[in-house]
Amino acid sequence: MKLEKTSIDLLKKGIEKLQEGFNLPELSYEFDIDKMEEVILKTAERMQDNYPYFHPLFAGQMLKPPHPIAKAAYMLAMWINPNNHAMDGSKASSPMEKEVVGDLSRMFGWREHLGHLTGGGTMANLEALWVAGSIHPDKYIVASDQAHYTHERISEVLKIPFKKVATDHEGKIDLSELEQLLKKGDVGTIVCTMGTTGLGAVDPLSDILELQREYNFRIHADAAYGGYFKLLGNLKESTIQNYEGLDQVDSIVIDPHKQGLQPYGCGCVLFRNPEVAKYYIHDSPYTYFTSEDLHLGEISLECSRAGASAVGLWATHQMLPPVKDGKFASDLARSRDAALDMYNRLSRCDLFFSIMEPETDIVVWAVNGKKVSEMSKAAQQLFNKAERNGLYLSLYKYPTNKFKSTSFLVDEDYLICLRSSLMKPEHADWMDEIWSRLMKSIDQ
Ligand SMILES: *Cc1c(COP(=O)(O)O)cnc(C)c1O
Repeated sequence: MKLEKTSIDLLKKGIEKLQEGFNLPELSYEFDIDKMEEVILKTAERMQDNYPYFHPLFAGQMLKPPHPIAKAAYMLAMWINPNNHAMDGSKASSPMEKEVVGDLSRMFGWREHLGHLTGGGTMANLEALWVAGSIHPDKYIVASDQAHYTHERISEVLKIPFKKVATDHEGKIDLSELEQLLKKGDVGTIVCTMGTTGLGAVDPLSDILELQREYNFRIHADAAYGGYFKLLGNLKESTIQNYEGLDQVDSIVIDPHKQGLQPYGCGCVLFRNPEVAKYYIHDSPYTYFTSEDLHLGEISLECSRAGASAVGLWATHQMLPPVKDGKFASDLARSRDAALDMYNRLSRCDLFFSIMEPETDIVVWAVNGKKVSEMSKAAQQLFNKAERNGLYLSLYKYPTNKFKSTSFLVDEDYLICLRSSLMKPEHADWMDEIWSRLMKSIDQ
C-alpha cells in the first residue's frame, strides 16, 4: 500500500516560494547526510509499528488523517518555526490564527468573540472552565457522566466544586436531574457536550437554554469532537436545533485536530463576550515589544504555542472553509452517512443490536446473547478477530443500568460494546469491505 505523498510535492513548491521572501546573505549548512539518512530510516522502521490510523479500515478510535494541505502548510511553517505567543515571534502566523479563529466563531453564528488556538481540547476546556470559575467563584461546574473526563479533573485542578449528572439511555444529560440541581441555586456553569467522546451524543442544548431563562448559569459547550456538525443538514431535526443554540452559549471548545483535518496540537477556545479578556491580564517584563495589537499570548494560559498549527488550519480554510454547503461540510456529511449505513446493516442483522441510532458519526453496538457477561466476552473476541482480519474497531463500556428493559440477563454493571468512529469521508465508500470483514470475523 502507498501512503499519501502529494503533501511532499506541495511542500517543496511552498519552500521555493517561501525563500523568495528573504533577502539575506547565503547560509551554508553542514549536516551529516549519511547519518541523517540512517536515522530517518530507523525512525520510519520504528513508526511502522502502528495501527493504520490513516486508512478507512481503521474504524475504531477517533483518528482522522490531516488533509495533505494541512500537512504541507504545517511542515512549511517549520522552516520559520513561529511561536504564536507574541507578535515578535509570529509576525505572519498570529494574524493567520486570528483569521481562522474568526472563521470558527462565525461558523457558530457569533459576530464577536475572544478566542485562540490551543494545544488541544483539554487546554481549551481548562481555559473555559477557568474563566467560568472566575465569574462564578464557589459555584458548581456541572457536566454529565458522559462528558469528557477532563472536566472533572480540570475542576479539581482549578479547585472549583464539580458535580456529575446522570445521562439517559442515549448518553444525553438527564434534564430532570439537572433541574433538581439548579433549584439549589449553586450551579455556576453547565458543560453541554455537543458530541460525546463515547457515543457521539449531543446534549439537549435547546432545553438547557430554556432552563437558563429560569436559573442563572453559564453554558460552556464542549464541542471538541462534534463542533463541525454545526455545518450539517443530515442530522436529526432535534440535533440540528441543538446545534443552532450554540450562538447563545458563553464559551465553546472545538478541536480542529479531531474533525477539522489538522495534525495534533490544534484545539480552540472561544468566548462570546470579549470582555473576559480581563481575567487574563498579567504583566510580563520580557515579551510584548513590537505591537500595539492584542498579543495572543495575552489571552492564553499557554505561553509558547505552535504557530504551525495556525498555518496548517489557515491553509485548510483557504481550500475547505468551514461553511455550510462547502466541500468540508459535504465530506463530513459522508462520515455521517457511513455511520447511518453501518447502523442500518447492524439493525438488519440479528447477531447484533445498536445502543442507539448514531446521532453524529459514531456507532456503538453489542453482540446479542443470553447474559451481559457472555455478550461482553463475545464483543471482546470479535474485536480481536476483526483486528486479525485487518479491521480495527474499538470497545466501549455501556452501563447496564441505562437499559430500560432487556431480553438478556443483566449479570454485570457494564456491557462491553464495539464502537466505530467513522470520521473519515472514505468510510462511506468502504462500508461493504468493513462489513464483510466484520462478518468474516464472526464466522471464524
Ligand atoms: C477529545 C475530547 C476532549 C479532549 O480534547 P484533547 O484534544 O484530546 O485534549 C474534550 N472533550 C471532548 C468532548 C472530546 O471529544
